[in-house]
Amino acid sequence: MAKPTFGVIGGSRAYDLLAQNSFGTVRATNPVTTPFGESAPIHLFEKDGYSYRFLSRHGEEGYEVTAPFVNYRANIWAMAELGIKQIISWSQPGSLNQRLNPGDLVIPDDIIDSSTKRESTYYKNSGLGFIRMSNPFCPEIREELITALYSAGNCDYHNDGVYLCTEGPRLETPAEIKMYRKWGADMVGMTLATEAFLARELEICYSSICLISNFAEGIKERSFKEGELFEGMLREDEKNKVERSITLLPEILETTLQKLSGAKRTCDCGKAMERYRKNGKIGDDLLAEIRSFSS
Ligand SMILES: [Zn+2]
Repeated sequence: MAKPTFGVIGGSRAYDLLAQNSFGTVRATNPVTTPFGESAPIHLFEKDGYSYRFLSRHGEEGYEVTAPFVNYRANIWAMAELGIKQIISWSQPGSLNQRLNPGDLVIPDDIIDSSTKRESTYYKNSGLGFIRMSNPFCPEIREELITALYSAGNCDYHNDGVYLCTEGPRLETPAEIKMYRKWGADMVGMTLATEAFLARELEICYSSICLISNFAEGIKERSFKEGELFEGMLREDEKNKVERSITLLPEILETTLQKLSGAKRTCDCGKAMERYRKNGKIGDDLLAEIRSFSS
């Protein structure tokens, strides 16, 4: 079987769901050593003539690595080194927008990055890395994800939304949420901005499916419940809807992968660094160039 060019990044829950639903058989699992440290283990799934790789960003068992401590550079680099050209990520942000309810699925179209302490570029001290962000998420994958949600039929979904990325691991205060809302954010989470920007730096297509897991603080009045986090912020019917929407992941991925696997990319994500190639600052092997000034 040809080497996979498609990668999926999600949580351990997403991994279990894909494995349990026989959305491919797991053939191999390996972490990759990169110039930026060791990546999370990367699993190779194979199914019906196509294959993809999966990485669980928060750990293999549950939630061992919180967002500020994920090695994003190693994870995205590892995908690139394994030949991945397109990534779909799965995450569960909170809603800042009354129209996005818990359990709704959203294909985000823009990002506000409010993270503060992360290594978020491969081009430190290199004079490189000025790249446009007119489409922070790959428009080609976005379109296919929207089509897949439409065909899935039994879910509430939204074609766009602005994702704001905070540093974490703490959640946001009501005053912060009010401010983010004024900035134009619809969802708040802690991971996508860093992944999306790093993927673009390596000319990998990156797009995301967001499952709204709760309303952010101050958007809807939800009292504090001892020993509970997001589940304590949901009504029973909302909890059920979130659970139902999680189970749609394999179907959405399958539809999208069938459409895009092996197809020629028509978007501009793969040309993000072209300007530097044209003016002779870098050669054709982007990873080799980065290695040369990172080690
Ligand atoms: Zn793209």
